[in-house]
Amino acid sequence: MSGKVKITAFASRPDERSSFDLFEDKLGLDIKHVSSQLSLDVVDQAAGSEGVTILGNCDCSKPVLEALSKLGVKFVSSRSAGYNNIDVEAAKSLNIKISNARYSPNCVADFAVMLGLMVTRKVINGLRRNVANDFSLPGLQGQEMKNLTVGVIGTGRIGQTVIKNYSGFGCKIIGYDVYENEDIKQYMDYVELDYLLANSDIITLHTPLFDSTYHIINKESISKMKKGVKIINTARGELVDTQALIEGLKSKHIGGAGLDVLESEYGIYHSDCRMSGMVNDEIATLKALDNVVLTGHMAFYTDQAVEDMVYCGLSSLAQFSKTGTADFEIK
Ligand code: NAD
Repeated sequence: MSGKVKITAFASRPDERSSFDLFEDKLGLDIKHVSSQLSLDVVDQAAGSEGVTILGNCDCSKPVLEALSKLGVKFVSSRSAGYNNIDVEAAKSLNIKISNARYSPNCVADFAVMLGLMVTRKVINGLRRNVANDFSLPGLQGQEMKNLTVGVIGTGRIGQTVIKNYSGFGCKIIGYDVYENEDIKQYMDYVELDYLLANSDIITLHTPLFDSTYHIINKESISKMKKGVKIINTARGELVDTQALIEGLKSKHIGGAGLDVLESEYGIYHSDCRMSGMVNDEIATLKALDNVVLTGHMAFYTDQAVEDMVYCGLSSLAQFSKTGTADFEIK
């Protein structure tokens, strides 16, 4: 008996490996690496493990949790912040403890502001032209941030960092959240959602995916927005009704979008799909539209964040095994 806690790391990527190796001994763990995302097809790989660590692209629905429970798995830690892929109620009923990760909000916040700047200055249109040696200006005129109002939906850890970042550009910042944060009020004003929709030049989304936030951007909310509004989503694809967004972009009511996440990204983003014959109408349409920047769920992806995510996932499993609870347990 090594005395080490046996765990399985699903969706384990080569770039995470040095962090896994760094913390494995320190935390007294014995890690089995599985490169596949957790699903019913590969769940058996967790046999013999007390806990498993997963990412946000893993399937942690009730059937998968039931299979994990049958294998004797007691703890699931996500190395991602969003945990909408985990059936929390099913985990509770199976007595499986779950946790998510906490890491620096700057990785996503910086990326969200970059997307905001890119669509405001029509950078993607300029880059597309340059590929064809077209360096003309008409159609590329942008706006100055100091003249704009940014509407931040969700003023949690990432939203607050976005607000601080944008404050450096001198823009007016308004925000909407179900809970107001006192400290951030020095940089912005809280407003009702409808006011934010009607008055923002850039709307940037930073809420988790809940029933209450599903399709928070939809046909009706888009109709309340200013003409030419830019929409930035680095939170979860399901916050936006993609078809309504596409209609808004086609009609030019929406002046641009920066999207790191998409409703239909599952099984596509984080994979090399060049040889897969993959057809995704939404991605194809969005790519073809004017002033839309698509990135493949990479806003989190910095050296600091990857190390923190791995540490958080592993330390939660070590804590669960030792004490029955963890700092970032989802209760
Ligand atoms: P957080 O929990 O600190 O903040 C979320 C905020 O949303 C809270 O202030 C909460 O009150 C607010 N909120 C909840 N329901 C709301 C509603 N109905 N209307 C308005 N506001 C509501 O979370 P965070 O760390 O800031 O992360 C936000 C989300 O970003 C995560 O849940 C995750 O889905 C996403 N994310 C994406 C990436 C990426 O790589 N693209 C990486 C990390 C996180």
